[in-house]
Amino acid sequence: MKKSEFLLIKKKYSDNIDDYIEKGGFSSLRKILSDHISPEEIIEEVKKSGLRGRGGAGFYTGLKWSFVPRDRSIKKFLICNADEGEPGTFKDRDILLYAPYLLIEGMIIASYAIGAEVSYIYLRKEYKWLLNRLEKAIGEVQEKGFLGEKILKSDFSHRIKIFMGAGAYICGEETALLESMEGKKGFPRLKPPYPATFGLFGYPTVVNNVETLANIPIIVEMGGENYAKIGIPKSTGTRLIALSGIVKKKGVYEVEHGKVTLKEIINDFGNGVKEGYHLLGVIPGGVSAPPLTYDELDISYDFESLAEKGTMTGSGAVIVFGYKEDKKGELLKILESIVHFFKDESCGKCTPCREGTWAIYGILEKIKNKEILVRDGVEMISSLNSKIKGLCACPLGESCALVSEAFLKKFEDILK
Ligand code: SF4
Repeated sequence: MKKSEFLLIKKKYSDNIDDYIEKGGFSSLRKILSDHISPEEIIEEVKKSGLRGRGGAGFYTGLKWSFVPRDRSIKKFLICNADEGEPGTFKDRDILLYAPYLLIEGMIIASYAIGAEVSYIYLRKEYKWLLNRLEKAIGEVQEKGFLGEKILKSDFSHRIKIFMGAGAYICGEETALLESMEGKKGFPRLKPPYPATFGLFGYPTVVNNVETLANIPIIVEMGGENYAKIGIPKSTGTRLIALSGIVKKKGVYEVEHGKVTLKEIINDFGNGVKEGYHLLGVIPGGVSAPPLTYDELDISYDFESLAEKGTMTGSGAVIVFGYKEDKKGELLKILESIVHFFKDESCGKCTPCREGTWAIYGILEKIKNKEILVRDGVEMISSLNSKIKGLCACPLGESCALVSEAFLKKFEDILK
């Protein structure tokens, strides 16, 4: 085992139901139902665990669940957000592929906690090849009696369905996801109200990321307090990271929050950078996360440390970038492709974002053609951001401006 490797979720990986059960799979669900553990107690355990969402925003999961009205007569939904569309992010795919039963068990427990009789996996269009596999897994879980009517002879019944996305990045935003499930355009909603009180078709709904839900059976098994001892106080548990870019060994790795630095991730997991490349920096949490320079890579990988540096763990995509000696100019291409992505995926609902992302792309063109200095570009983007920030229904436009500004500022010497 590598120095920094810490397996918590990966220890539960199993793509065969009998093997999963043999390894203790579904024992958390069994324990809840046979010991009559109440939904409130489960929510309390998840709160104690300090689990934060692994999709991007990092909101406390137990707290999110506690906002759902307890009234049992009101219909509720749980949605597993498997619309993993942030460039560089492929860690949820690992769970869908290698740990579907762990995810399903997490979904059943989460649904029990919030009182949902039906839950959905919102699967991104590009993962359609996983549809049959997931449907088969759901069927197998039902055959074993862990899904369906009166699970394990308890009063709790549950069904899981799969909803296919249509290929829009913005539908990874939870309210755009809900709109698309209702058959409407995938536009983010203005908030409040939040989905916990007004979600799918107006019913209270919890939307949780794949990795977040995969943590739930583990928390029930070990107890919230014990789970909270892993990692550090405000970043508990582990994190699956999707490592890519100029490292020698790309892949999905699991790290303990707060115990591993970005440099260790590159060297220990990625086996260092490829021959002939100069390591310049890292995008630490998907392209919505502002980059860090080489000098900033001794930073611990956790929610708080990255936030202090003005960036985030985001979607867990660690993209390592640099250049070959004779190709320094190609650095701008990285930023161009990020902004190109944002301008293409802006849903167009808010004018500042719709127009602003195109304007930022235009500024980069001007830098590339030497019509303006990098420094002028930074000022122009910063001024644009003041007209985007806080004026849009979701953070996409603002992320585009922040990432572009940080990139140009931090790597001005290389880019000019
Ligand atoms: S900020 Fe952009 S992506 Fe988000 S809702 Fe507005 S237009 Fe759509």
